[in-house]
Amino acid sequence: MASQGVDVLMLSVGADLPYFCGYEAMPLERLTMLVVPRDGEATLVVPRLEASRVRERPDVFELRPWDETDDPIDIVSRLAGGAAVAAVGDHMWSRFLVDLMGAMPHAAWRRGSDVTAPIRSVKSSEEIERLRAAAAAVDRIAGRLQRGEIDLVGRTEAEVSAELGRQIVTEGHDRVNFAIVAAGANAASPHHEPGSRMIAADEVVLCDFGGTMVGDDGVGYCSDITRCVYTGEPPAEFCEMYDVLFDAQAAGVAAAAVGTPAEDVDRAARSIIAAAGYGQYFVHRTGHGIGTEEHEDPYIVEGNDEALAAGNAFSVEPGIYVPGRWGARLEDIVAASAAGPDPLNRADHDLAVVA
Ligand code: ZN
Ligand code: ZN
Ligand code: ZN
Repeated sequence: MASQGVDVLMLSVGADLPYFCGYEAMPLERLTMLVVPRDGEATLVVPRLEASRVRERPDVFELRPWDETDDPIDIVSRLAGGAAVAAVGDHMWSRFLVDLMGAMPHAAWRRGSDVTAPIRSVKSSEEIERLRAAAAAVDRIAGRLQRGEIDLVGRTEAEVSAELGRQIVTEGHDRVNFAIVAAGANAASPHHEPGSRMIAADEVVLCDFGGTMVGDDGVGYCSDITRCVYTGEPPAEFCEMYDVLFDAQAAGVAAAAVGTPAEDVDRAARSIIAAAGYGQYFVHRTGHGIGTEEHEDPYIVEGNDEALAAGNAFSVEPGIYVPGRWGARLEDIVAASAAGPDPLNRADHDLAVVA
């Protein structure tokens, strides 16, 4: 906060709050806010009826419940104590921010992520191990998918998505964040919404799924993996495209060393896809950071020249999408470490042929 020139940090709904105090705010019209003055003690302001859900941490914050007839904006602005520069959580509802701006008319406003993103994006070794455990859980599901142990042909994308979701929970996650299942031409849409489309023989099935594993401290860590399988012998043309994707993804992982600018990881993957003539079909950045949120800093994208630091964790997920025809993506979570790129996902990277 001192280096960012921020006097008070205020966190409400969103991943920052559990990260810093182990409590996740319900997205309610009743205000929950952690108020952190730069030179003072932190206070967690919560509706009285939620207070019993808070794991008290007197070493971290003081608890300040408010009653139905109290004015929580007044409580928060008093705790902020005339701050000249206030940073508010990126996901705070605008109704609270608008009220706070009224109660603190002289404050300048900043995004909370100016303070929190640099902290959250550098994981401790304990956090990396929690991401590794979440990655291992989705790897087990990917393995079953690749061995043909999850029925595909004759089921709808939505049915397979629901099954992946159940397995995400069975494998130890507390929440399912997404389970994309895209068959045939639908695989050309990177964020396809699984629907009533029946999966047939002899087509690609792209599966991208992940969830959140919450620890005893109330902080959750995310998984995110993409694998493709083919329901029959893939045509040579698809195999050629997949081989390019395989090489591009491996090159991206290999480039993910400490000190490398994030955009160079993107370039490493993209240049291989472009050189093979598929450049126009790779329509998104190569990756995103991951931690307590499924998308967070650092972003692996052209224009981000920030050097990777030990403890950064992010996806490397190039894709090739040929509209109306087919598509493929290959995604691992990778941690940058002093010993080199540390891929957390270990599921097989080949295009599995399933019956
Ligand atoms: Zn995505
Ligand atoms: Zn994904
Ligand atoms: Zn991802």
